[in-house]
Formats: sequence, structure tokens, C-alpha cells
Amino acid sequence: MPRFVTIELKQHIGVPASPVVSVGDLVQKGQLIAVCEGLGANVHSSVYGKVAEIGQAVRIEMDEHQPEEFIKIAGWGLDPAPSRLDMVKSAGIVGAGGAGFPTHVKFSTDLQGGTFILNAAECEPVLTHNIKVLNEQADLIVRGIKYAMDMVNADTGYIAIKTKHTKELIAIARACKAEPNIEIRYLPDMYPVGDERVIVREILGVKLEPGQLPLEAGAIVSNVETIKRVAEAIELGKPVITKDFTVAGRLNGKPKVYLDEPIGMSVQKYIDDCGGAMQPHGEILLGGPFTGFAGDKQSTITKTLGGIFVAMPFPDDNRKFGILACECGADEDRLTEIVAGMGGEVVSVAKCKRMVEVNGRYRCDEPGNCPGQSEKILKLKSEGATAVMVGTCED
Ligand code: SF4
Repeated sequence: MPRFVTIELKQHIGVPASPVVSVGDLVQKGQLIAVCEGLGANVHSSVYGKVAEIGQAVRIEMDEHQPEEFIKIAGWGLDPAPSRLDMVKSAGIVGAGGAGFPTHVKFSTDLQGGTFILNAAECEPVLTHNIKVLNEQADLIVRGIKYAMDMVNADTGYIAIKTKHTKELIAIARACKAEPNIEIRYLPDMYPVGDERVIVREILGVKLEPGQLPLEAGAIVSNVETIKRVAEAIELGKPVITKDFTVAGRLNGKPKVYLDEPIGMSVQKYIDDCGGAMQPHGEILLGGPFTGFAGDKQSTITKTLGGIFVAMPFPDDNRKFGILACECGADEDRLTEIVAGMGGEVVSVAKCKRMVEVNGRYRCDEPGNCPGQSEKILKLKSEGATAVMVGTCED
């Protein structure tokens, strides 16, 4: 059994949580170990153990015996009960799809009868944990949607899913059969259909401009696991102490989906559990193959980690590269890192034709409606590139 968990104090958008435990303290599973002050989220211990170190993370030496029971969030089970929004805040729930935006802030919105959309796109190639949850915990997810609709005052709930997920569609359709305000809506099987603006365009027919939020269309979009955590906080008083994710890539064993694994465990544990990394291998990517970033075996499970992907080694290629960056895949820094890993040289950089600058950040003007890039390729070529490294485009 692993001896330590390392629980990051910043697993969300905002400021790091402030520790409320000290080195040497004994902690229990579910215990609050750091509180959010300002924009952020509470952090809880995922294990029973003793605090060994506090820095940017709280490192806890695990007890040998790890009971299932956990400490419930503040006020849960009392009469009067805290509001649902307070429970979401206490539980430290953040967008589990990767963004890590604090859910209590997102849900502090009055849609005045608008739409709540469950994002079940499972957009990144290889990742399948959200779809598995939809199949195995469909009733919990439908109850979670109802809690979310209640909190944000939405009259309508949509479940946005691709038609290819037949089994899961049947499971979720059964679970919401008696819910007149919740409907299933279909998404095309394309990348990046899980982008919030694509979801709003496909489901509500509203084109959001770069930088606009679904709120502008009277909607809030949340991913499957986020809603699972909402339902668990309200029904069980459970803080965010576990995570769902997929492990795939160059493994000696089979890829595997893990549900409800303790936050703070090392990535190494799960690679080993899948038979170890095949040799030779390349980077250990945290996240999916398109938008993941390079980690290592000592990286840990966080509230936003969706995947552990053992990549192929970089091929040797010392050509002069042009980079074509986009919003939906690897950005300029990541593509530069890949070229360097291959031994190449970046001689020119261009952005996808649809990228526009909004508040100092490049955003896609119309995600999923990807144009031909020949003009950009010619530009890269004219600047000396003999090969091109792209984010996701295949043009
Ligand atoms: S248009 Fe470009 S940035 Fe937008 S989704 Fe397509 S490839 Fe990505």
C-alpha cells in the first residue's frame, strides 16, 4: 500500500486554499484540511493519517487501516440543514472536467427559468470515465441534475450526449423517464464538441462569441463528474476526496477506468496497477491526449485530473518546424515543447485561422467548425518550415 498522499492546496481556479492543520496532526478521511479564502475551494483529507509536511500541498502519511467512513461536510444532517449551495461550497466541488472553476460560484446564479446542460460529451479521445458513470450511476446523475436545476433556478435540464453511446443513452433515458423537465439532446461525434460554446451552439442553437459564457444564452453547463460530486455532497455529506479518471496509452496491461480513487495518490500507483508503462515510452500526460500536459510518475491525482496517458517516445526529427496552434488542442508552448523533445527547431509560428484575441488570450471564433489551413501552412513554409506541428487540425 502507498504510504503517502500529497493533496495540492490549489486544485482549482483562484487562490490556493489556506491550511487549517499543522505538521504532526492526525487527520481523518473527509476532514477539512484547507479552507478557501476568496475565489477557490475547500480541500479535505482523502485518507486517515498524520500530516507529514505542508508546502504547496499537504502530505499525509497514511494509516495502515483505512475505513470507508468519512467525516461529513459542515452542518450536513443537522436541522435546519445548510442550503444546497452551502453544501456544494463546503464540499470543495470544482469543475471536474479540467477547468476547476469553483462550482459554488458557478451555481450562485439565478437563470430565471433558463437551461441547465449536463455535458456528457466525453470529448477527449481515449477518456471514458464519465460515460461509465453515466451508465453505472444514472439515477445519481439525474438527481444531481435536479439539484443543480434547483440551485440555478433552471426550468429545463438537457443531457448532451453523442448518439454512439447507445448503452449509456438507454441507462440515462431510463433514469429520467419520469422527469418531464429533463431531456436528452444529441451531440455530433466531433472534436471539440465538449467545449461549452459548441454545446450551447449544438443544443440551444445560440452562437456565443469568443469570451462569452453560456450564461449569455441563459444556460449553465456542467460535466458529469461535477454533478456526481454535487449529488454526493447533498445526499451523503461527502466532500471531494475521490476522483474518476481513465488510464491508457503504452501500458503492459489493459487501459482502465478508475472511479472514486483517493485524491493525492501518485500517478505511479495506477500505472503500476495497469501492468506498468511499456518500454520505451514517452511522456506521462496528465489529461487527455489533445489537451493533457506533461507530468511524471510522482504527479498526483487532483480534483480535475481526467486521465493518465503514457505516450509513445518522441520520434527523432531535427527538421525546421512551423507551429500551428489552436484553442482546442495543444497551445504554442506545448507544441514548442514537443518539437524540442523531438530534437527539432521552431522557425515559425501561426495560429489557427479562426483564433481571435480576446482580453489578451487567443480564443477560437467558432469551435468545431474548423477551416482549411492552407494559407497558414504556406506562411509557415515561406518562413523556412519544412515540417508542421499542429494541435488538432488534420487539414
Ligand atoms: S477552428 Fe481551429 S481553434 Fe477552432 S476548433 Fe477548429 S482547429 Fe480548433
